[in-house]
Amino acid sequence: EAVKDKADVMAKDKLLGGLLSSEFDEHSCLSRYRAVLYRKTSHHLLSPYLVSKLRKYEALHKKCGPGTPLYKKSLEQLKHNHSTELECNYVFWSPIAGLGNRMLTVTSIFLYALLTNRVLLIDQPNDMVDVFCEPFPGTSWVLPDDFPIKNMWSFHHRTEESYGVMLEKGLIRNDPNVPKESLPSYVYAHLPHDYNTMSHRLFFCDEDQLVLRKVNWLLIRSDNYFAPGLFMIQQYEDELRRMFPFKETVFHHLGRYLFHPSNTVWGLITRYYDSYLAKADERVGVQIRTFFWTRLSSDDLFEEIIRCAQNEKLLPPVNRTESQPSDTEKRRISKATLVVSLHYNYYEKMKSMYYEHSTTTGEIVSVYQPTHEGNQQTEKQSHNQKALAEIWLLSFCDELITTSVSTFGYVSNGLAGLKPLYLAMSAEIDKVPDPPCRRAVSMEPCFHSPPNFDCRTKKDADTGMLVPHVRHCADVNDGVKLV
Ligand code: GDP
Repeated sequence: EAVKDKADVMAKDKLLGGLLSSEFDEHSCLSRYRAVLYRKTSHHLLSPYLVSKLRKYEALHKKCGPGTPLYKKSLEQLKHNHSTELECNYVFWSPIAGLGNRMLTVTSIFLYALLTNRVLLIDQPNDMVDVFCEPFPGTSWVLPDDFPIKNMWSFHHRTEESYGVMLEKGLIRNDPNVPKESLPSYVYAHLPHDYNTMSHRLFFCDEDQLVLRKVNWLLIRSDNYFAPGLFMIQQYEDELRRMFPFKETVFHHLGRYLFHPSNTVWGLITRYYDSYLAKADERVGVQIRTFFWTRLSSDDLFEEIIRCAQNEKLLPPVNRTESQPSDTEKRRISKATLVVSLHYNYYEKMKSMYYEHSTTTGEIVSVYQPTHEGNQQTEKQSHNQKALAEIWLLSFCDELITTSVSTFGYVSNGLAGLKPLYLAMSAEIDKVPDPPCRRAVSMEPCFHSPPNFDCRTKKDADTGMLVPHVRHCADVNDGVKLV
């Protein structure tokens, strides 16, 4: 019976309402069509326009992808130091920071590719091999090994090929009428959190976009979810409105579209889920991340988590004074708590608490943690595979408590389609605050370092005050998010 149910669900919604292409071979990437069996159905409207954009994009990528004659032609142009009229233009990504940051920047760049008719290619490091499946049917998004630009990972805010530096040196004019042939064949857009000189921030201005659109190859490096910045640019407004009638669904839809764990990672996810989480009536995910600037002691952080979970009625309080076993014969609600953290102590304490005491509601609480890797090891493939498995397991939960500021947490919330509870965490907090956590205003990730620049006046301005759907995030003072 269960097998038949699963088959029915797969038959009905494995394409997530048209978000995913039906062209893939199912076995090469089991997670793509099977995540629907684990994750709750998305109730967030998917616009038919976005669906048609994605199908058109897939056709473009197939036509221009690595190995095609048009790719060779564009690659040839890269050798000349000027741009020209070409059928295929590209934007490529190179990694910075951990998996959460990477997923957020890839998504931002993909949105940019959709807006500018570019093909997205990624400079895939070895630590990301066999982590994700290919996202586009019948082609690849991985830059081939023989790609001539080799040292992208070392590009920084003073790199000669960067748009900002070229503007400063007068090598590029940001005049929308500048002829294509006078522009280089490739330009680097420097958008990591330290892009604070004005010339780099001009990326988010209309005139500069008109210039950049003429360049054949564009490299973007960032560690930020800069998609909200694209909503500041007038020429993209119309397209963005049609693709996303509800702004807070950008990462939710594009993330579910782009990211599918490899079969190796899907093995980790399903073995864990089926062993520990499947049978519970409810699943509560708790993601606990500490940063170098965290001042809360681990005891206080534990206290904060418990208060948050209990205030918000996600987990029941325990009877501190007596630990009588329940004598009821009634079937009681079971809650599985998935703890995800680099550290072991929060899990250990929570598990002991529910082992040593009964709950006041009679609910049964079980506590699980898949790994405790100790520290971030982004350069290690197996570490990234486990990190991705945990992001996915969190995204299968019914409720989430995640850590403020953490992109790892943002990705889990966005994929789940949940407005999470953010644990209060900032460099100023040194004891458990009241309230211990807050419900996010939207499920979108926060853009930590917005341009804070008004393109019309060419002066500093608060990005969170310029357009209606871009507002300050609750968890990062300067940050902005789509609401
Ligand atoms: P952020 O630093 O929280 O914004 O998230 P990132 O994902 O960009 O970088 C943190 C990296 O540390 C992750 O990608 C993982 O490699 C590792 N990491 C952090 N927290 C966890 C965790 O709870 N579980 C696992 N397996 N890895 C984690």
